[in-house]
Amino acid sequence: MTEMKNSEGVQRYIDAAGKAAERKAKDIATIKKCKFDTIAVHGLYTMNEALNFNQGSLIEPIYMSTSQGYRDSDEMEAALSYQVPTWCYSRIGNPSMYYFENTMALLESYGMDGEASCCATSSGMAAIFSATEPFLAVDPQNPKQKINFVSTCQVYGGTFQQFAVRKMEEKGIECRWIINSNDMNEWESKIDENTRFIYGELPSNPGQAFFDLDAVIKMAHAHGIPVIIDNTVATPALMRPLARGADIVIQSVTKTLATSGFGIAGAVIARKNIVSRFGNDDMKKDFAMYLKTLPNRDNGQNISPMNAILTLNDMRTLRSKVDLYSRNTMAVATFLESHAKIEKVNYLGLESHPLHDLASQYMYLVDAQFDSQYGQEVNRYGHLMSFCVAGGAEKTRKMFDGMQRIWRATDLGRVKSVATIPAISTHSQQGEEGRKLADIPANLVRLCVGGEHPDDVIADLDQALACIDGKIQTQVPYEYSFGGASSGTINR
Ligand SMILES: *Cc1c(COP(=O)(O)O)cnc(C)c1O
Repeated sequence: MTEMKNSEGVQRYIDAAGKAAERKAKDIATIKKCKFDTIAVHGLYTMNEALNFNQGSLIEPIYMSTSQGYRDSDEMEAALSYQVPTWCYSRIGNPSMYYFENTMALLESYGMDGEASCCATSSGMAAIFSATEPFLAVDPQNPKQKINFVSTCQVYGGTFQQFAVRKMEEKGIECRWIINSNDMNEWESKIDENTRFIYGELPSNPGQAFFDLDAVIKMAHAHGIPVIIDNTVATPALMRPLARGADIVIQSVTKTLATSGFGIAGAVIARKNIVSRFGNDDMKKDFAMYLKTLPNRDNGQNISPMNAILTLNDMRTLRSKVDLYSRNTMAVATFLESHAKIEKVNYLGLESHPLHDLASQYMYLVDAQFDSQYGQEVNRYGHLMSFCVAGGAEKTRKMFDGMQRIWRATDLGRVKSVATIPAISTHSQQGEEGRKLADIPANLVRLCVGGEHPDDVIADLDQALACIDGKIQTQVPYEYSFGGASSGTINR
């Protein structure tokens, strides 16, 4: 990257770094031959890595250090110009993050031709910000260009706010919402020469919207536009958009990947050599590494080493957990579908769902064909579902307040079952009109089924639904404790 010729001292370090690059390439090639579960368990943390660099530590160490020390000024110069492997400062990188990022990249690119890389972020929203902002920069050749991007309208509430308020209202960058993501003509009609990227969430949170990913990628690439997919709900255990040709995947790592619920984290995973008619060569060649070393270094939305390792630990058993949660959710969805007090159930796993067949072409439990229990490909649909309670918002709240086992919280992806009413929580800020656009009625409950036995979750829902006709006692607190950002007035 530097224009200057390196001094002899600096060059010595660069030569030594060549060996490290070779070792990494070898480690990647070796682990890539393994199955998904093995990659999730080991990633790039090899015995060699442990014995030579980490005092034999079996589990990846948590490097709670702000920064890295250097041997001399030559090494410092080589490192700070990114010419040798370095982590430098924990806003840029850190060994614990490195182990997490490599596992994440390997899992999202499982089954893909070629390699991906990952840049971990402090949250899923930070990942979405990181993945999209570089494409929205001013083009020096065309500074007056009226930039736009195209996105499905059924997206996570925070994503809706980031696009509609932060980008559109505050910066004048047009977000063109796709209302019916299964209408290819609508996609086509919203793209023009000022479109910088395509963004899609599937299955969507909470509505379970789903579109024909292959067709959208093909169309976007014909225009030279990159495709960014939020793969939070499916996780790489069920779907890997990069292997289908998508350019960039974002993850709210906070959710199913860190199912134990210890903290907030996100990730941007990108294939090498993304398709994009906008952007410089460095950005296109290795987008995640570009983010890590430049924009995210300057903007500062990095993950903490603690969260990186906690997540890494959770991810080791991702496949079997997603299988279990998916089966539990299927049982709960089937129960709800036949319940008289339920108006509608949105779960892609149900044959009654209009997008069931389409989703079934995409959502498979990875490696089920190698699993002694299955021995063939099996569809799984994840643990997010939603349903509408008959009789409107008030009855919905009564049922919701009656739950004894399922937690009321704006969370999902947990090992514990959690439910929320999106209209008064995750999707409250986007207003009535925004909710209509995203199809979030007031009687919609989002439910994420965890690892409990499904019979117990069903029993809780059954008694909660019985509460609709009864009287329930709400629990008003004796006194509140102040934990953080309550304000009462600010809502954007
Ligand atoms: C939660 C969520 C996000 C945002 O992630 P955070 O980690 O909460 O910032 C983005 N997309 C989807 C689908 C989500 O569920």
